[in-house]
Amino acid sequence: MNAALPLERPPFDPAHLRWINRYTGMGLPFAHRQPGHALPNPRWVAVSEAASADLGWPADWWQHGGALAAFSAGTPWPGMATAATVYSGHQFGVWAGQLGDGRALLLGEVDAPDGPRELQLKGSGMTPYSRRADGRAVLRSSIREFLCSEAMHALGIPTTRALALTASDLPVRRERAETAAVVTRVAPSFLRFGHFEHFCHHVRDGDYTALRRLADFVIDHHYPACREAAQPVAAMLAEVARRTAGMLADWQAVGFCHGVMNTDNLSILGLTIDYGPFGFLDGFDPMHVCNHSDDQGRYAYARQPQVAYWNLHALAQALVPLVEGNTEQVTAVLTEALSHYPDEFARQLGRRMRAKLGLSTEQAGDQALVDDLMRLMARHQIDYTLTWRLLCDHRIGVVGAALPEPVRDLFLDADAFDAWIIRYDTRLLAEGSTDAERRARMQAVNPRYILRNHLAETAIRLAEAGDYSEVQRLHRVLSHPFDEQPAHAAYADLPPDWAQSLEISCSS
Ligand code: AMP
Ligand code: MG
Repeated sequence: MNAALPLERPPFDPAHLRWINRYTGMGLPFAHRQPGHALPNPRWVAVSEAASADLGWPADWWQHGGALAAFSAGTPWPGMATAATVYSGHQFGVWAGQLGDGRALLLGEVDAPDGPRELQLKGSGMTPYSRRADGRAVLRSSIREFLCSEAMHALGIPTTRALALTASDLPVRRERAETAAVVTRVAPSFLRFGHFEHFCHHVRDGDYTALRRLADFVIDHHYPACREAAQPVAAMLAEVARRTAGMLADWQAVGFCHGVMNTDNLSILGLTIDYGPFGFLDGFDPMHVCNHSDDQGRYAYARQPQVAYWNLHALAQALVPLVEGNTEQVTAVLTEALSHYPDEFARQLGRRMRAKLGLSTEQAGDQALVDDLMRLMARHQIDYTLTWRLLCDHRIGVVGAALPEPVRDLFLDADAFDAWIIRYDTRLLAEGSTDAERRARMQAVNPRYILRNHLAETAIRLAEAGDYSEVQRLHRVLSHPFDEQPAHAAYADLPPDWAQSLEISCSS
């Protein structure tokens, strides 16, 4: 046998995919079978090779078997079972009643190398849950969702993925005339806290059968270890809280603001979901509000961890009918399940911030060292991402104006920064840190490239004029956020002046 012969792989054929469609298979009241509304004259804007590989699909899958029609809400592939799911939720702290997949459509659930994955279109037209809206998503917000989903994954942050983005000339009316697009998202599940809230609040005659079936589904398919616990539902809640704490620690450490942390936008698997008016911090401001529609600043950067805890309480409330015991016992069990969130979040954030500083041990005073650096950044709104990245290059013992380092130049109050660096050096020396080794570790957790609003905006403006190349280029750059990429150094620059006036709102 000639070992040099390449292994022949059969060409990708969607007819050979194995669809299992477990959630939609439960039918009503959970999932409403619903066809998509095809985008007229669709075209590909971008495809994520990394998300394709996660599905076990070859890089060229989109060139086969009517993929363009299937992924622009036209003719589905055999085995897909398109459906919209119902959920409810609290929006901006207020009960909003029934919401649901108003513009999303589950295509189906397919077997993949790391476990089943659901595929979902966003912007696929009206469903029974569209309320008074059009079921569409504009190209602008779809590009932002595509890019950020894949950027977050590359940053190592749990998220729904984006497989593909298609566009069309179909006019869509927002504040101005725009055109429609469809993002294909991928996740092990798109279930949200709001799914539980829905089946808790919409009951007839105290019959919680649907709520129980939903909990059984989530436990059996996503939290099987909780089945062994004395109170499986409470164990599931504790696990959701643990994952949510980890996700929030990731967000805070990288400076990500979600923008709309309503309970219908929190994933039951602790995945970042529903990218709308999100943003990454530029100049560090703990009270930064990325969503122009959020007048009260409810979802400001520094408030996110507490909001997630609030949302977890709303989830716990929805689980009350499923826990056995009298009122006091139920309250005690669910409160216990939630009680670990604050410590878990603090522990996880502490671990990430120590890593950002390049500390490999944990010592008293580490928290103060982090807090004091953040305070210095906040005082003059110094760029969050750039500060951390330049700090990677710090060399122990280099303090003050004699041998300045680029990170020092960021700080207007150089004396205060020098005082901090002296403390940092003392701390580094205490654990025998060496510059080169620490630098490599720090560069692996402090990204050089993040999806700043102005980068997305530039890609959007070109795409709206029919040129998708910048979306694809930016996607590639953000797929390697920790690498230096000298050819793309400009993508790490501070926002230009025109970016000051960018307003990102709920409109999408
Ligand atoms: P969001 O603010 O994007 O998380 O959406 C909140 C709710 O409004 C969800 O039920 C969405 O499905 C629905 N929704 C948002 N935009 C549209 C739209 N253009 N058409 C139909 N439903 C929408
Ligand atoms: Mg949403």
